[in-house]
Amino acid sequence: MNVRLTCAACKRPIEQAATGRPRKFCSEGCRRSADLEVRRLDRQLDIPESRLAVDRNWLATIEAGLASGGGTQTKQKAVFDVTRAELRVADLQSRLRLLLDELEAPA
Ligand SMILES: [Zn+2]
Repeated sequence: MNVRLTCAACKRPIEQAATGRPRKFCSEGCRRSADLEVRRLDRQLDIPESRLAVDRNWLATIEAGLASGGGTQTKQKAVFDVTRAELRVADLQSRLRLLLDELEAPA
């Protein structure tokens, strides 16, 4: 079993009780701050996710030949924008997953 020795929020060492579930947070405050961080990241994801949807739409419009003046440069820029938005979303999602693991994984 993977026994965590440091607090998932503040990284301070946690004294584990000899019996019972290993603790993931050193205090109720640290658990709450991790909870808040999850909500914050969740909200932050809204913007890049809708940004990504807009960029993908734009790229699809260009690829369909429907954009006015959609030359190679325009398409390259659209591909770049989509890639950047995907990376931003993936980064936030992986941070969110890590935190959720800390909060929800059974001890
Ligand atoms: Zn802590």
